Amino acid sequence: MSHYETGLKEECGVFGIYDLDGGDVSRSVYYGLEALQHRGQESCGIAVSDTEGPKGRVKSCKGIGLLSEVFRPGKIEELNGNIGVGHVRYSTSGSLNVNNAQPLVLNYIKGSLALAHNGNLVNALELREEMENSGAIFHTTIDSEVIAYCIARERVKSDKIEDAVKKACDQIRGAFAIVLMSPRKLIGARDPYGLRPLCIGKRDNAYIFASEDCALHSIGAEFIRDVRPGEIVTVGTDGELRSTFMDSVVDPAKQARCIFEYIYFARLDSKIDGVSVYDARIRGGAALARSFPVEADLVVGVPDSGLASAKGYSEESGIPFGMAFHKNSYVGRTFIKPSQDERESSVRIKLSVIESVVRGKRIVLVDDSIVRGTTIGNLIRTLKRFGATEVHVRISSPPFLHPCYFGVDVPSNKQLIASSHSVEEIRKMIGADSLGYMPIEELQNMVGKDLPICKACFNSDYPMEVPTHEIRDLLEGC
Ligand code: SF4
Repeated sequence: MSHYETGLKEECGVFGIYDLDGGDVSRSVYYGLEALQHRGQESCGIAVSDTEGPKGRVKSCKGIGLLSEVFRPGKIEELNGNIGVGHVRYSTSGSLNVNNAQPLVLNYIKGSLALAHNGNLVNALELREEMENSGAIFHTTIDSEVIAYCIARERVKSDKIEDAVKKACDQIRGAFAIVLMSPRKLIGARDPYGLRPLCIGKRDNAYIFASEDCALHSIGAEFIRDVRPGEIVTVGTDGELRSTFMDSVVDPAKQARCIFEYIYFARLDSKIDGVSVYDARIRGGAALARSFPVEADLVVGVPDSGLASAKGYSEESGIPFGMAFHKNSYVGRTFIKPSQDERESSVRIKLSVIESVVRGKRIVLVDDSIVRGTTIGNLIRTLKRFGATEVHVRISSPPFLHPCYFGVDVPSNKQLIASSHSVEEIRKMIGADSLGYMPIEELQNMVGKDLPICKACFNSDYPMEVPTHEIRDLLEGC
């Protein structure tokens, strides 16, 4: 299901490109961000600069809405330069504010910086308070500005921007994938746990950083490699990739990739840290079939992110895979609807059931998560109205029980159905004939044993110390 229908919100997408031959990059940033639009639909922005031109003169454009809404005809042409960064954002509720859109552009004594960040810091409030006490003035409410300010503060005391980034990264704690543009350099950095993805690509004589490799392919670039957890990669005017590591780098066994990237957030055609998102979902579906077998006639997935898991369930169980839903892509984005009622009715309009597929059949319905339970309940009722005789629900993630502090806006415990109801109670509430959630011990198999994962929203085993729930509500990441 899509993010705005479940109530889970991620996150952001970041993109950066440096064309060492001097070609204009703003269109490439636009197309790269378009491929990352699934990571954030509420605001977006692009900042570019000309490395041959006046040092650090940054042109930028950002606004509320999709890329196609913010970058009206002619806008991109106004942004010329051979180095650029871009960002798509999904804000937490109540903070839909153009000031919080990124990239953040900072003018300071050493020139300009433009920063795009994905993730959430756990010590942002502490750092912000300390900075405000020493005279800093913040223009936004996002912790990305804390990172930018930290880098600028360190830059004044460092010989090179990458040294300043390293010092700043050793002060911040939490999840971050950063792309930063200085007057002559493009830098990508990833938190020591590798919570959020970031990869490197190349097209002719241009280097690219992107949240997912689907953005590289969309601009005809080749994937080079993922940025490693705790690594800072710098592209300078000589075209060399220089790598350095943060002091805060952790033992590889303690790294913690967000498993939700594979279950739900990332695009199906992306590969993160060497693991294909599609393959991970197929394996997840197969694990569900082994854990919760059932006699049925057809396996169907809830578009979009439930489809591959449904295929995996079908392959493992031998029950045929079918397409039960038509998704109307032209229905407006449901998150802009203010009330829950409207949100739910919009979902009904967006996903309609294909009666000839489901009539008279015992259906296995696979989805990626249950947050409040209302959406899946509607789908089950509709399937039965169109003649499905039984609906067995299989969920490709374990029940959500704990908040995320690393950039995924999981609704508060009160709204999470699993935090106050047993599986059997949820089954009854949604009207399913049976219900099975992915066993937590199967999650690792989705990505293979060599990639340590974070699964804290299911078992509260956070990879680092986290603040209290009250403080979490004040954190505003990206
Ligand atoms: Fe991802 Fe959950 Fe960990 Fe947050 S707590 S980073 S959503 S696995």
